[in-house]
Amino acid sequence: MPPQAQSTAQSPPKPTTDPEKYTNSDHFNQRLKQQGRYITRNEVNQIIRNGTWKHEERNWKVTATISGLQYTAIISDHKTEIVTAYIAITNKEKAHTNPQYTTEQINTMHIRTQLAWNKEKLTTQFYKNITINTPFTLRGHTVNTPKNHITLQCTQCGLTAHKKQHYAQTNCQQK
Ligand SMILES: [Zn+2]
Repeated sequence: MPPQAQSTAQSPPKPTTDPEKYTNSDHFNQRLKQQGRYITRNEVNQIIRNGTWKHEERNWKVTATISGLQYTAIISDHKTEIVTAYIAITNKEKAHTNPQYTTEQINTMHIRTQLAWNKEKLTTQFYKNITINTPFTLRGHTVNTPKNHITLQCTQCGLTAHKKQHYAQTNCQQK
């Protein structure tokens, strides 16, 4: 048993915190290749070692928050596999002080977080106040929001929309 292993009535035994034991799911491998994700296997290894483990439905959710950035890995509870991982911004001002990332990278993570968690905040003013020139992958599209734009736009097919849902519902014609 690993040193931090523990078991409760509700959760299966906590799995190993040795990151070398884990393989990547196909989904996580895909995600590592997508533009504008910024999570790396190295960071996932660190949170497997040092993060907070919580059992949710059929997975373990492992999190660590560093300078306004919350790193999350979803780990299978029935095989030693990393299902997925992502970075969210919990404090934008703090995050911008992190020397590891550029302003634009933090902006991209911020938009991803808002697209996932706070859909009602995605107003024209929200987009107007945030600039992302380097496109990132969103549901099969390649989007950005240059200076003074009031929405996201796909640089491949031209679709403009505020919400992730609209990108999910439309195939990118240039793929
Ligand atoms: Zn598109």
